Amino acid sequence: MRNILVVEDSPLVLKILEHLFRQEPQLQPLFCASLAEAQVMLETSSSLFFAAIVDLNLPDAPYGEIVDLVMQFNLPCIVLTGSYDEQRRDELLLKGVVDYVLKESQHSYEYAFRLLHRLDSNSQVKILVAEDSEATRHFIRRVLTPHLYQIIDARDGDEALRILQEQPDIDLFLVDHSMPGLSGFELVKLLRQKMKRNELIILGLSADSKGSLSALFIKHGADDFLRKPFCPEELNCRVMSTLERRDMLRALKQAALFDSLTGLYNRRAFYEQGVQLFRQAQRGGQELSVAMIDLDFFKTINDEHGHASGDTALIGFARCLREALPDTLLGRLGGEEFALVSHQDGATLSAALDQLRSTCGTLKYASGAPPLSFSAGVYHGAPEDLESLLHQADMRLYEAKRSGRGRTCCN
Ligand code: GH3
Ligand code: MG
Ligand code: MG
Ligand code: MG
Repeated sequence: MRNILVVEDSPLVLKILEHLFRQEPQLQPLFCASLAEAQVMLETSSSLFFAAIVDLNLPDAPYGEIVDLVMQFNLPCIVLTGSYDEQRRDELLLKGVVDYVLKESQHSYEYAFRLLHRLDSNSQVKILVAEDSEATRHFIRRVLTPHLYQIIDARDGDEALRILQEQPDIDLFLVDHSMPGLSGFELVKLLRQKMKRNELIILGLSADSKGSLSALFIKHGADDFLRKPFCPEELNCRVMSTLERRDMLRALKQAALFDSLTGLYNRRAFYEQGVQLFRQAQRGGQELSVAMIDLDFFKTINDEHGHASGDTALIGFARCLREALPDTLLGRLGGEEFALVSHQDGATLSAALDQLRSTCGTLKYASGAPPLSFSAGVYHGAPEDLESLLHQADMRLYEAKRSGRGRTCCN
């Protein structure tokens, strides 16, 4: 939960903001209608706030005095303004506000909320700036700092490459084209051989006036390009939009690989990962074990305790499974059916599943519900192909069901 200080006197704008905040349960607004009120609030409890949204024109502060107050307390400040004025805008950005938002339409207010969300994740975002001009490096740092990013500087291409190798968790690389040593363009080509777009965002920079350079940068894998000199907002907008694009890509990838209920691999991803494990085991001459697991009488749980309780049982079971077999490829193949591939031998895996069975029996998923039980089939052998081993395990699962459930059958 993040507390946001909102300083605004217009009832109409307050109504819109209240409406938007209601849709953001993780953002908690605190409203003040004047500079004086905000001053008391900040003096008594500034540390409670994560950021502020402020109106430039307040009854007791008509010239944006609220911005200075908020900045004194080192709070990220988003400005709401009724009118656009170049000079005012430059002054505000120079003071280090996060951004200003024109009170125009629903979209502008939504933009303010996008900024709040980004601010919340930006402190985890590492940006490497490779630029040989000290003045430009300083300018970039000053522009990006209000957005709470972690910023690292490199003075030339070689230093940038070294930092990227030492710190693989860098999210975004802002790279000038002409630098001593490796040029920006050479760096992009080099980096894109190893790192995909969702692993490292690259923004090219150059003072070159030819449009062809920006096209070349992008064709070789940069995500975007800025021509120097650029205005502070342009840099921030581009950084923000490429980060949003990257996060969206990651979310899509997550949704494509993982089952949304249990967080385990879905069927497709389980098979893809499983095939790779098989190839490795074949090359290393190792044997593998696979298991098929199916919860017992699950339909009855749904019928007698409701679908939501069934879901709780599935989530709880997946958690126990992960804890019982931490270094194992696990997947939810569908419904109440799970599978795994393990380096353990059949007997060790069966013993682990028996242990899991007693943990599962104590899971609380609905009041008055019977202990959660599962049947499992385990097959251990040389990794010919995943499909046939899983088929062998499935036959043993069937045997476990037929011979009374709540047990593991193994070859
Ligand atoms: P058995 O012991 O023979 O395995 O019987 P069972 O009742 O567990 O098996 P059956 O295949 O008859 O029923 C599986 C049930 O799982 C039916 C289906 O509605 C339910 N199910 C599948 N996916 C979900 C889910 O995501 N959530 C919940 N709550 N139920 C699900
Ligand atoms: Mg006002
Ligand atoms: Mg079942
Ligand atoms: Mg089933």
